[in-house]
Amino acid sequence: MKFDWFVVPFLAGLTFVFGFCGIKFYRWIRQLSRGEKLMLKKHVFSRSLWLSVKEIFSESLLHRKIFRTHPLLGYMHASLAFGWFLLIVLGNVEVKFYSEYSVNPPYVPIFLNYFEPVTAPNFFGRGFRFLMDLLLLVILSGVALAYFKRFNSRRFGMQRTTQHHFLDRIAIISLWCIFPARLLAESLSAAIYHNGSFLTNTLSKWLSALPVESMLYPAWWGYSIVLGAFFFTLPFSRYMHIPTEVLLIILRNAGIRSHYFGHPYQEVDTFSCSRCGICIDACQLAAVGNSVQPVYYLRSLRYQKPHENLTENCLLCGRCVEACPVGIFSTDIRRHERTLGHEMCNTHYAFKYQLKNNTPIEVLYFAGCMTHLVPAIKKSMTSILDHSGYSWRMLDADEEICCGRPLLLAGQITAANKVIMHTRSLIENSHAQLLVTSCPICFKTFSENYRLSIPVVHHSQFINMLQQEHRIPVHRRNISVKYHDPCELGRGMHVYNEPRSVINRIAHLQPNVHEKAKSLCCGGSLGNTYIDMETKLQLADQALQQMEVQSADYLITACPLCLKTFSSVSPIAVKDIAELAAESIKDTIVPFVKVIEENKSATFAEK
Ligand code: SF4
Ligand code: SF4
Repeated sequence: MKFDWFVVPFLAGLTFVFGFCGIKFYRWIRQLSRGEKLMLKKHVFSRSLWLSVKEIFSESLLHRKIFRTHPLLGYMHASLAFGWFLLIVLGNVEVKFYSEYSVNPPYVPIFLNYFEPVTAPNFFGRGFRFLMDLLLLVILSGVALAYFKRFNSRRFGMQRTTQHHFLDRIAIISLWCIFPARLLAESLSAAIYHNGSFLTNTLSKWLSALPVESMLYPAWWGYSIVLGAFFFTLPFSRYMHIPTEVLLIILRNAGIRSHYFGHPYQEVDTFSCSRCGICIDACQLAAVGNSVQPVYYLRSLRYQKPHENLTENCLLCGRCVEACPVGIFSTDIRRHERTLGHEMCNTHYAFKYQLKNNTPIEVLYFAGCMTHLVPAIKKSMTSILDHSGYSWRMLDADEEICCGRPLLLAGQITAANKVIMHTRSLIENSHAQLLVTSCPICFKTFSENYRLSIPVVHHSQFINMLQQEHRIPVHRRNISVKYHDPCELGRGMHVYNEPRSVINRIAHLQPNVHEKAKSLCCGGSLGNTYIDMETKLQLADQALQQMEVQSADYLITACPLCLKTFSSVSPIAVKDIAELAAESIKDTIVPFVKVIEENKSATFAEK
């Protein structure tokens, strides 16, 4: 077996990193519940594992998602990750050709040019040398870009970049040195044995004036030391995301998710953050000087630093989750963390509202607390439901029923469950066949937390169905509108097409660059109780400017909270999609002008 003492730093670092990751991964998997372990086993020993392999290849190595949004950044990540991966693969293939042993220790492919300096390479040997030089050049271009990005992130399409802590700095300096050190060692070898290719040969000519023979051995030592330094610091730095992301992809594809704060999946999520900083630009709070973005939140979680402000002062709008190339569910982690130490509110409720009428009906309409603050939506829905021909009733006509979502977002789980159980019994006892709600927040809560025996739809879906079935008349108007996707309806429930279908039948829908999953938050989120009204309105104003709403006659949305928030600062009239649909019904019982007037008189402060 070939050996030299200079391989020790590399070998020790490699052993350490494999040992550390092995123990860490074992602990995470051991903490999974029995059911989750079964799910993992089923995934690993079935054909669905292929999904994970494909994702590891396309995301962990090629960084496809980053390429799509930030091409230069994507190239930087892919050249380093995929280039290094190919270099290792090629090194192992080359060893098979040149080594006298059939099995070699892991350092031989890495330092092959030291152990097997082929002096007169044949055709294949020259091919290997060429490919090695090519890969090294690609990786070095990635290193150069990474260095450049530290000082000029705007060129990479990013407004801000993250700060490194001490071990991050050592890891990053080691990483930046690995490939120049390899180039130097290989070029010195090429100067002595004339076995290089276009890159190493060129450099060897420049180096030939120096005492290359005496420089060769220290150069291999240097290469081994920087590799070892990188491996020793990797588990404590941001680069721990490299091995952890592989486990994250497998767990995610196995269907495992975090259910509580401290769940092993949440830890894997936290360690998988590469601190690429893409979530900073996605977050609207960054523009108002608030640093609550996942990159900071996950970092403080990982190093167990105090971070109450980061947990609470977030809109839970999900824009960062949508933008994250790793697919980290940071909003879930925040919601779960909010349940810690918060169970302090009174949970002894004497519910005022009891079911007064349980005559069987077809449609049960639930307006929601926020909709009661926008009477125009309620009136429009009343008109639409009356015209629909369905028998219907409004569950919360007396305004005394809550879906429980505000309590859930505040981490008051016991109180929320009490409210949910009560409201659920009212819905089930109504004997309706369909539940329609005007509030996306209620819609998400009914869909995810209630386990109802009847289907639940948002009113935009219901109106679309009524129009498709010609149950309500549609009058096309000569108006131009922009549509704003509410966070909970779009990113939260993936309802994108139905509102657009409704609008397209009535008005001209203008394109909006910030639409669907990229939609902007109105700023009025119930998820953030720390933010003041001034900042909320500032966020709403910035969102309207970015959507360039002035070019339209109306801004249409499908959430009472978005409508109220935008109405306070919008230069054009803001309407709910139900108002637009009700207006298009001939002889509507809701005079539209009156609805607008009521909207204006319902001030934001009423919230
Ligand atoms: S949370 Fe996602 S987007 Fe944000 S820094 Fe981490 S990996 Fe990047
Ligand atoms: S959920 Fe929204 S407000 Fe919170 S960090 Fe992500 S983008 Fe920012």
